[in-house]
Amino acid sequence: MVTDRKGAAAGERLFNFSPGPAVLPLEVLEEIRRDMLCLPGVGSSVLEISHRSPAFDSILAETRQGLASLLGVPDTHEIIFLQGGANLQFSMIPMNLLRGQSLPADYVITGTWGAGAAKQAALEGDVAVSWDGKACNYGRLPTADEITASPKAAYVHLTSNETIQGVQWKQMPDTGDAPLVCDVSSDFLSRPIDVSKTGLLYACAQKNAGIAGVTVIVIRKDLLARSAASLPPMLSYKVHAEKDSRANTPPVFAIYVLGLVYRWIRDTFGDLDTLAAHNAAKAALLYDVLDASEGFYAGHAAAECRSDMNVTFRLPSESLEKAFVAEAAEQGLVDLKGHRSVGGIRASIYNAMPLAGVEKLRDFMTAFCQSHRSASGAADAAGGNS
Ligand code: PMP
Repeated sequence: MVTDRKGAAAGERLFNFSPGPAVLPLEVLEEIRRDMLCLPGVGSSVLEISHRSPAFDSILAETRQGLASLLGVPDTHEIIFLQGGANLQFSMIPMNLLRGQSLPADYVITGTWGAGAAKQAALEGDVAVSWDGKACNYGRLPTADEITASPKAAYVHLTSNETIQGVQWKQMPDTGDAPLVCDVSSDFLSRPIDVSKTGLLYACAQKNAGIAGVTVIVIRKDLLARSAASLPPMLSYKVHAEKDSRANTPPVFAIYVLGLVYRWIRDTFGDLDTLAAHNAAKAALLYDVLDASEGFYAGHAAAECRSDMNVTFRLPSESLEKAFVAEAAEQGLVDLKGHRSVGGIRASIYNAMPLAGVEKLRDFMTAFCQSHRSASGAADAAGGNS
């Protein structure tokens, strides 16, 4: 097997900082393993039963109810489970919510994923870019008065957490009458969100909520009326909502795992406020090392919009960054290499990353800085936020 995880003994779990698919709670993996051959009381694996069987009826209903209670989804909104990843949503959103509208859709572009969403929307209809952080290398978010939103828009699209750059909205901006459409792929279920103020939320599951294969949509019911009858049925929110997410065979296993992750969150943290505080405390451990490093570690994100999910930073040279990744891997801290467009290091510390993993990374970072700082002349070389 080709891997940077050569040190892993058989059966040994490393601390996995992958941006996604990402670490899952051990309890969830154990439950999957335990029930893989036979769901209790069902006599078959979840992989082998009909998506219209009573057993899957309950999995679907419990998962939906669980998410609704955790997120506080009001009756005005509907939860839909789809396939195709968040990328398909980049197209489905304008197909359903922009097609036939006289107003453009506003996009606030705060990183790679927001840029991708805007690009795909422009293939479908009229897109207005209300802010684009490209010039500052997506190292910060706009202030409220920098966003030039149209007085009216079909909707306003944001990315709540830019996974690659590590910038995260702490509070969603007010979009007035225009429905807020938000890509919450990389901070879904990591903190509370006021669903009543949103038009549509979407998230692929493979970061905080389970495995690749299912994408969760939370849509305000009145917006379903915008889905044109001429849309191919598999691309219509209205059809999927009417068919209870079973217009075709849904990703049964991914929905099952999402349900297990929901229960793990409920049983471990109780609610999303508690989980958010836990996540912020974990992230602070790493940001404190950055801040104390006198420029050896240069954070990519401006301090006020640092992500609690993806901690991104550079070292004084690429050779030090390579050494950092290699030495960390030797200590069982893996998948820390940053995305090629940002470079440096990215530590993804989603819900399921244990505190012990973040503490171990913090200690490694402190030691690495101490042993390399004087040799590197860090203060001169590091450029601060980029
Ligand atoms: N949006 C964000 C914020 C993401 O982090 C990702 C995946 N990294 C995507 C969209 C794309 O998701 P998918 O690969 O499921 O299409």
